[in-house]
Amino acid sequence: MRTSRQVVDYSLQKRAVLRELLAGRIGTYDVCDASPYLKNAARFHGEPTDHRCPICRSENLIHVHYIYGDELKQSAGQARTRAELPVLAMTLREFQVFVVEVCPGCDWNHLVEQFLLGRDGLAGEAEGAGESVAANGSTPRRRREAQR
Ligand SMILES: [Zn+2]
Repeated sequence: MRTSRQVVDYSLQKRAVLRELLAGRIGTYDVCDASPYLKNAARFHGEPTDHRCPICRSENLIHVHYIYGDELKQSAGQARTRAELPVLAMTLREFQVFVVEVCPGCDWNHLVEQFLLGRDGLAGEAEGAGESVAANGSTPRRRREAQR
């Protein structure tokens, strides 16, 4: 999604889990443990993908989008379809999205990524640049002084 920000990608963690599995240090019962709630969310709100399940290789993975944030009130923690996210992003200032992949065949599940959505991010890209400056501890003023 174009407006998503502060994206955290979990593909490294996923690869690590698959490595552990391949090495026999963990079993499929450790990773194929999707709860009934997650499976229901996948069935009713999930986004089909064309990625094969890395475990059973017989089904395609489904992405479930969970939303979190104070503005969501009682809706926080619920699954939403991908199509609903841009609509929410226009009405709310900021909320967090967690994407979980689920296999309907063997119950494999893993966090794919998390990111922020909302009107705050649409307001101005310039502000985003300011954030990253603040993050590395140097204010624009201090930077100018350093250039002298
Ligand atoms: Zn599977």
